[in-house]
Amino acid sequence: MPSPALQQLSATTWAWMNDRPGWGYSNSGVVASDGQGLLIDTQFTLDLTRDLLRAVAATLPGTEISTVVNSHANGDHTWGNQLLTDAEIITSELSARHACKEMGPAQLSALCAMSGQSTTATYAAECFGHFNFSGVTVTGPTQTFAGRLEVKVGQTLVELLDLGPGHSPGDVAVHIPEDGIVFAGDALFSGAHMVVWSASLSACIAVCERLLATGAETFVPGHGPLMGRADVEMVKGRLIAVTESARQLAEADVPLMEAARRIMAEHAGSWAHPERLFTQTTAAYAEAGAPGVPAGTLAMVEGMAELACR
Ligand SMILES: [Zn+2]
Repeated sequence: MPSPALQQLSATTWAWMNDRPGWGYSNSGVVASDGQGLLIDTQFTLDLTRDLLRAVAATLPGTEISTVVNSHANGDHTWGNQLLTDAEIITSELSARHACKEMGPAQLSALCAMSGQSTTATYAAECFGHFNFSGVTVTGPTQTFAGRLEVKVGQTLVELLDLGPGHSPGDVAVHIPEDGIVFAGDALFSGAHMVVWSASLSACIAVCERLLATGAETFVPGHGPLMGRADVEMVKGRLIAVTESARQLAEADVPLMEAARRIMAEHAGSWAHPERLFTQTTAAYAEAGAPGVPAGTLAMVEGMAELACR
């Protein structure tokens, strides 16, 4: 199957699956019934979003996308929103509140353009330098919710779950109960380590439990291949293992970067982006009450860059 491609998961649900493990290549989804469509997440650039919308139009002719759900505010899930201005764009209150702290396309491009001048800029350019953000106007939600929201798409009931902080400061999952399918956004990564922007690893673990509690059998992660319940259990188990290692290192007063290096050596395995373990270590250190733990997007990117470059 070419990638990205629309993969049918049920009579009403399709996933736009991207099999590239690199940063920024995200999965999206569509629920379609009786000519109505709900899109889960747009893509990182306008061109990538147009590819998605063309595939939806070809596969589901006559379907009008009247609702977009953003799983969180990161650009690789929202920077195509402006191509769907006729639709209601929904996310959680928490996600909307923290969107202003995101790095915008101009900032990210400027950082990539400084490649070679700092470890962070070189790392950013390697991760994001090949994306073309021209024309992107960051477009926020038109509707927010807290807790749980039901949306009817034609005959199909879709449940939006406000997961609270975890991967990002506010994540949303889209549950299609009749099909046992959950679109998890970046609350789940498949085949790659999780980035933690929220500074809480325990929240990421609790979110895995919440996703499993839906009873769903199929999980569409924000990045990487489809997952089943055992895969979600594995992600949860590995987050718990990192938490335990980090707690021991924090108690032994091991400095943060050294702790992240040891955790990467122990927990990298075969998943992509082991440098993201810096963000997990940082979150666990913050929760263990270690002093002087850095916070914020740029500090996380700096730490990952340092870990990736050695
Ligand atoms: Zn993402």
